[in-house]
Amino acid sequence: MSSADPQVETVVDLNAIAHNVRILREYAGDAAVMAVVKADGYNHGAVPVARAALAAGAAEVGVTNIEEALELRAAGITAPILSWLNTGDADYAAAVAADIEIGISSAAQLRTVERAARATGHTATVTLKVDTGMNRNGVSPTEYPEVLELLQRLVSEQVVRFRAIFSHLACADEPGHPSIDMQRDRFLEAIAAAKQYHLQPELVHLANSPATLTRPDLAFDMVRPGIAMYGLSPMPRVSDYGLRPAMTFRARVVLVKNIAAGEGVSYGHRWIAPRDTTVALIPAGYADGVPRALTGRIEVRVGEHIYPSVGTISMDQLVIDLGDNPAGVRQGDTAVLFGQDDPRAQQWADLLGTISYEIVCSPRGRVVRRYVGDPVLRGSE
Ligand SMILES: *Cc1c(COP(=O)(O)O)cnc(C)c1O
Repeated sequence: MSSADPQVETVVDLNAIAHNVRILREYAGDAAVMAVVKADGYNHGAVPVARAALAAGAAEVGVTNIEEALELRAAGITAPILSWLNTGDADYAAAVAADIEIGISSAAQLRTVERAARATGHTATVTLKVDTGMNRNGVSPTEYPEVLELLQRLVSEQVVRFRAIFSHLACADEPGHPSIDMQRDRFLEAIAAAKQYHLQPELVHLANSPATLTRPDLAFDMVRPGIAMYGLSPMPRVSDYGLRPAMTFRARVVLVKNIAAGEGVSYGHRWIAPRDTTVALIPAGYADGVPRALTGRIEVRVGEHIYPSVGTISMDQLVIDLGDNPAGVRQGDTAVLFGQDDPRAQQWADLLGTISYEIVCSPRGRVVRRYVGDPVLRGSE
């Protein structure tokens, strides 16, 4: 890195995104792939990830709210975009005007979309999100007939175009969990019920990353992988499925110094140097997304070597013990907190009792994001 480079950054490998999309396409068989880029692409950057995924053969893009969808449109992404979680006062008119497909979870929401369509004179494209057992977002079974009746009327009046029916699995990362087949059965019933109202979806979709990788019978017309596209296994104990992590979280060594045996390091002196040693200061702490709960538990790579983090992780910095520093670590060297080789995001997740999704969503604040990969994938990011 040059001296103008940021102190702490995430480097997102768009070749890895493309590689992972190709793997997911193989698992999907004849089904299309929707690239899920909610939460700013799981903190990898929604626009560059969407571009790379579409270039690698994804057909559509999925996000949570309308703001996220509009950001993709504004960046020139023309592929279908589905937004599935919006409050009543969301800007449905802007979504309809930008041809954003809206996931419907209630009759009230469908009526709001109807008003936006009538007000703007654009046909709204809607997709039914049915609750098949997650019991979170989606049309509940009790409200489903009312939604279907209203939708049938709006379709016949050409106020809305009915695109798809989808649902979301609660336990797909536990292969064999009985809820998976139960949700499939309820999903099929919901599709059949729509047909009773002469509502024929153009496509139906159910599978997230774990279902895409383990249940080819649930691929239907499209799969919706998120985490696997970012190169992280939704079932790390089972397999890595050949996926390649896209995010590297790294920082530059700001200081290397010698300390004497018996000296304490960082707040609370929770680590006392057992011998004369050399330590390096890494300018990344909990404000940057390195959880303080990882104090004394993580390792950091500098070059080919891995060093233990010692002393309390603070807001802005952490310390690693270089011992005699045989590799000659120096100020300005790159220290990898997690990335494509060890240490990995999954290891932080295991230490914290959480999932890798939460780890890659952690880098923030001062952390600068940068992209590497083929120029064709990087586009005009
Ligand atoms: C987040 C999400 C996905 C992707 O889930 P992964 O486990 O990351 O593959 C798919 N569908 C919906 C509705 C989601 O909210």
